[in-house]
Amino acid sequence: MSWVAEHLGHLTCDEPHASAVRGGQVAADAALAGLDLTGYARRRSQVLPESARGASRMSPYLRYGLVTLPQVWQAAGSAPAADRNKYRDELLWQEYARHLYARIGPDLWRSLRTEPRVTSTQDPWRRDMACMDLVVGDLETDGWLVNQTRMWLASQWTVRGGRDWREGEDRMFRHLLDGSRAANRLGWQWTTGAGSGKPYGFSRWQVEKRAPGLCLSCPLQRGCPIQDWPDSTPGPQVTPPDGVTAGTTDGGPSTAVVTGAPELVWLTAESLGAQDPALAAHPDLPVVFVFDEPLLSRLRLSGKRLVFLAETLAELDVDVRLGDPVVELAGQHLAVTYAPVPGFRARSAALDVVALHPWPWLRPPGSGSLRSWSAWVR
Ligand SMILES: Cc1cc2nc3c(=O)[nH]c(=O)nc-3n(C[C@H](O)[C@H](O)[C@H](O)COP(=O)(O)OP(=O)(O)OC[C@H]3O[C@@H](n4cnc5c(N)ncnc54)[C@H](O)[C@@H]3O)c2cc1C
Repeated sequence: MSWVAEHLGHLTCDEPHASAVRGGQVAADAALAGLDLTGYARRRSQVLPESARGASRMSPYLRYGLVTLPQVWQAAGSAPAADRNKYRDELLWQEYARHLYARIGPDLWRSLRTEPRVTSTQDPWRRDMACMDLVVGDLETDGWLVNQTRMWLASQWTVRGGRDWREGEDRMFRHLLDGSRAANRLGWQWTTGAGSGKPYGFSRWQVEKRAPGLCLSCPLQRGCPIQDWPDSTPGPQVTPPDGVTAGTTDGGPSTAVVTGAPELVWLTAESLGAQDPALAAHPDLPVVFVFDEPLLSRLRLSGKRLVFLAETLAELDVDVRLGDPVVELAGQHLAVTYAPVPGFRARSAALDVVALHPWPWLRPPGSGSLRSWSAWVR
């Protein structure tokens, strides 16, 4: 934490502190070993009491490749059938988000089906509402939320609050430990109707069902601003970005492409696990990670995200640098694992990558339609 404050504090949007969810391979391995999905299907959306939650909290480890989707898929194998199937469906949602982002990249920032109306510039995440206070507090303190409360936030921001979904997505992204443009933009698109055409309405009903007792502590319990369902008429239809209905996806190589002798393994934030394919293939080479200073100064992430990364890097034998990766790694022969995100493609194209290792897909991307999860999953 103090290391982050000293070296990266000028790049964060808040005072760096550690989340209750700790970074590192040791913590990730323990979470995977302790994965118990009994009751997951029934309890994945439970918010309170915390002890009744069914969500696995694997997302921060999946985000940085400390565990992979195939590993978690495998680990779900021993769960009761209904829980296993539901959990694996959720893993497929994550894979779908990655396919979509790998295909259309920054265009995932454009609404895919309808354009929700923007009618306000007020902050709809009002801290005088006990439900918003709980959830915004968790987001800012620990940077992790169950899926249900992410939907509350997105719906409250755009469907009821009339704010641009992209601004809310950005604000949430800065704080989520698992924040990824793929899953966060898809989640926002889906909840606000931008990507689904059917906005999700958030009201007191969900709070009473998923967090029983919370409304009793609310100063607004007798004048609840979300007592009734919001108007959830979708905005006007839009043309989806190119590539959504059909197109090719650059999913990287399916086996390692080696064109020379690497002298350095480059780890990226997409793949920081001990089983990173480039790391595993070149165990004797020095290893480097670059905190991308120009990118971080634009993003202004919360300090707890960087603390999570620092905790992870501290367990690796790695040379940690701060700067522009393209400058820091110029002229070196690199081994690296492919990452299906636009930032990796741009940076690796400007560097001398002589050993490119495959990304561990759950399902290799194809050229079919990505218009809906249900069509894609078939
Ligand atoms: C508005 C909004 C924003 C979101 N932003 C992110 C994000 O930035 N990063 C992120 O990883 N997920 C995001 N999600 C998806 C989902 O909420 C989280 O993956 C999940 O809550 C993480 O907690 P968990 O690991 O306990 O999930 P579990 O319920 O235990 O599920 C296991 C895994 O399945 C995947 N998963 C579960 N639900 C979804 C989903 N709806 N979409 C995609 N993958 C899913 C995740 O990899 C998750 O770790 C978002 C959802 C919404 C509605």
